[in-house]
Amino acid sequence: MELAVVIPVYNEAQAICKNFAVIYDTFLQDDISCQYIIVDDGSSDTSWLEISKLQKEYSNVSAIRFARNFGKEMAICAGLDNIDAERYLIMDSDLQHPPKCVKDMLLLMDRSQVNIVDGVKQQRGKENFLYRFFAKGFYKILKNTTGLDLNDSSDFKLIDRSVVDTIRQFRESNLFFRGLIDWVGFERTNYFFTVEERVEGESSFSLFRLMKLAFNAILSHTSKPLYLTFFGGAIFLLFAVILGIQTLVNYFSGNAVSGFSTVILLILFTGSVIMLSLGMIGVYISRIYDEVKGRPRYIVSQNLSRGIKKDRKII
Ligand code: UDP
Ligand code: MG
Repeated sequence: MELAVVIPVYNEAQAICKNFAVIYDTFLQDDISCQYIIVDDGSSDTSWLEISKLQKEYSNVSAIRFARNFGKEMAICAGLDNIDAERYLIMDSDLQHPPKCVKDMLLLMDRSQVNIVDGVKQQRGKENFLYRFFAKGFYKILKNTTGLDLNDSSDFKLIDRSVVDTIRQFRESNLFFRGLIDWVGFERTNYFFTVEERVEGESSFSLFRLMKLAFNAILSHTSKPLYLTFFGGAIFLLFAVILGIQTLVNYFSGNAVSGFSTVILLILFTGSVIMLSLGMIGVYISRIYDEVKGRPRYIVSQNLSRGIKKDRKII
């Protein structure tokens, strides 16, 4: 089977059928034959009902339902795990990743003989100032700490079998899909596309959720913040030695500092730095705890696959 299209869905009941029809028709017109796998990421609305309808109506649609919301990254992983194909396309269900670009992406992959065609946002679509500001800031921090340059990257990707086989071996439960695709290497090329506006509903990524994603991305790709606390400690020690000598000199020369202001300030300052460092270590320990528990990465409550991957153990 040539192409598998993975579509993660979360609370898209009003639009999923309409949007899927657009994707389906566009691919039909462009002569792209494929299998679809729609993953319901534990929607709390009637998305699953709509998706099951689609699965019944179209013979090349498989559907998976999560027992609860595990996040878009996991929905993508479940899609990749549960279907076998030569190539995989990952696209949003809200038509922000234009289906009409897929033909060009496939051609580009053939022409340049690469394993990954990365959809890069040429124009970021309509976003508010705060979102843009945080997105830019996040990518800058990510680049400086992890070396991953994901500026304007998206989950709109075409990847081939070898990349998916590699990703299937990963067992971490906290992953950042875009970062992972960047990390695995392989031959790649960029495909620039313009992000369409969302037709219906609104983005499920609130500012808080985006910040959580950003934090997750940094933590799963680098332990540099831990080293930062170490260097912070070293700089502190340097100041401590200088101040210590000064204090001793003052003491022995008989003019020790009077008053507590300096002491109070120092205690407050060192206290906060120590707490911050402990917090940083704590965050990493909690991640280790999560991974050590070795729980399943996602739980499938219903699987309407079309026998494409019967023998596969779902992890
Ligand atoms: N999505 C998902 N799980 C989530 C949140 C979102 O599967 O927890 C899906 C959503 O249905 C959509 C895609 O991921 O198909 C992108 O989500 P959204 O449009 O909300 O994000 P944005 O376009 O703002 O990045
Ligand atoms: Mg969207």
